[in-house]
Amino acid sequence: MQDEIFIIGAGVGGLTTGALLANQGKTVRVLEKSSKLGGRTASMIYKNHILDNGFHIMPFYKKSAIFSVLKKIGIESRLKLAKVDDIAFHSDTGFHKYPKGMGDLLQLSLIPLKSRIRLLKLLLPMAFTSIEKTEEWDEKSLTEITEKLDPDTKAFFEAVCMLAFADTADHISLGEFARTIIRANPFKGGTSEFAYPDDGGYDSISKVLSDYIVEKNGTVETKQKVKKIVIENSKVVGIVLENIQGDDEFIPTDCVVVSYPAYMALNQLFDKDAIDRNFVEKINRLDKKTAVVEVHFALNSKIDNRQVVFPVGDHYATKGIFFISNITPSVSPPGEHLIIAGTPVDSSVADDSKKIKQIVQLMKEEISSIYPNFNSSLLWERPMAWKLVESVVKEPGMVWKSKMPHQIPGIEGLFFVGDSTVSYGIGTDSAAHSSILCQPKIESYLKIKN
Ligand SMILES: Cc1cc2nc3c(=O)[nH]c(=O)nc-3n(C[C@H](O)[C@H](O)[C@H](O)COP(=O)(O)OP(=O)(O)OC[C@H]3O[C@@H](n4cnc5c(N)ncnc54)[C@H](O)[C@@H]3O)c2cc1C
Repeated sequence: MQDEIFIIGAGVGGLTTGALLANQGKTVRVLEKSSKLGGRTASMIYKNHILDNGFHIMPFYKKSAIFSVLKKIGIESRLKLAKVDDIAFHSDTGFHKYPKGMGDLLQLSLIPLKSRIRLLKLLLPMAFTSIEKTEEWDEKSLTEITEKLDPDTKAFFEAVCMLAFADTADHISLGEFARTIIRANPFKGGTSEFAYPDDGGYDSISKVLSDYIVEKNGTVETKQKVKKIVIENSKVVGIVLENIQGDDEFIPTDCVVVSYPAYMALNQLFDKDAIDRNFVEKINRLDKKTAVVEVHFALNSKIDNRQVVFPVGDHYATKGIFFISNITPSVSPPGEHLIIAGTPVDSSVADDSKKIKQIVQLMKEEISSIYPNFNSSLLWERPMAWKLVESVVKEPGMVWKSKMPHQIPGIEGLFFVGDSTVSYGIGTDSAAHSSILCQPKIESYLKIKN
């Protein structure tokens, strides 16, 4: 049978898998249903600014899984990264620098000295533990260690969770939190720095990957919706492409990679009895969806030189203020500045325009209280609400190896990547990590079949 590998979806998961396989001489065909590349990271131009789908930042800078993929295939120089490390908290007592390492924790003016020492005692052993050990904590909640802490230290954990997971501490597995601390530990080869594409637009990562696939004789096609994966005798035999004219097209293939959230794909792409129902039910439990309300603001003056500010305290609805044009000026036209403010919300809020408006108003008032010249500098605002931030909330029992496996036991030629599948890290980092883990499985299948 043909040796083409069909990848469904041109987000970070699909494209990193495609690039890794293309690098090994495989012929890759990426099919993307929308007109843009990048999936959830797709960017757009609006009033001469480059806007992302909400704020997107790459955790672990050049130690991220995305960067590891680029390095592995030798094209890391094609993605210029701006470093994101000028981060601060804002509390009722003013601005406080975000700690970049354990040493900085002792100087963390956000919390009293006693709390800093307590924090160090908690985080130091965690930072030096092994990734294998953290698996024992995957079922536990981060709040198991934070619930007895004083309110100041708790507020610090909440801010860290917002930065690292865009979520609140009660939603975070202790195992996943610990892996983040380990990966941020420079003594273990990690970094706590973040990155953003220097040319602006987080989807430039996808463009770099897509160009590489095409250079290696692969194809990346937009407006190609896969309607069905056909399975016969527990083997993939082809896919059905939706055709707007009505004649759906069957393409024979024995290797398909699905790169969008597995709990959607399993319910959309297969005949009813093709996949064991119990398996599908097990995966459906991952459908937890985190939601956010975020607003882009364009300003005609610079209200801060920092890159990211986290308002700390329950009284703030705004959980993050990201000064994107301070990270890289390429996102804005000369003389204008771009910021985005955001807050996680219950997913029902993302459909409620009245509530979204109220949240946006509140955010504007809060930003004005921190930056008195915000209102007078405001050129325009563009709110958005997202229901699916990450495929899998980092909840206890739903992380790392408890996610969707890369293969369904007993079914040949079918693979799954992306942020809902076995991987650690958040968002795009986890999508790329899933590709690193899945690629050898695809290679080994191709070897056996040939
Ligand atoms: C507002 C917001 C903020 C975020 N912030 C961050 C952040 O700061 N840092 C971070 O690392 N992550 C962040 N994320 C998460 C990150 O965007 C995702 O985790 C990541 O992009 C997921 O990549 P993926 O390839 O797994 O899936 P996706 O990006 O969803 O890609 C799947 C692709 O498959 C396509 N597709 C679906 N069905 C079909 C079909 N039938 N046929 C063909 N194509 C199909 C889709 O159109 C899509 O392009 C954020 C997400 C949002 C929404």
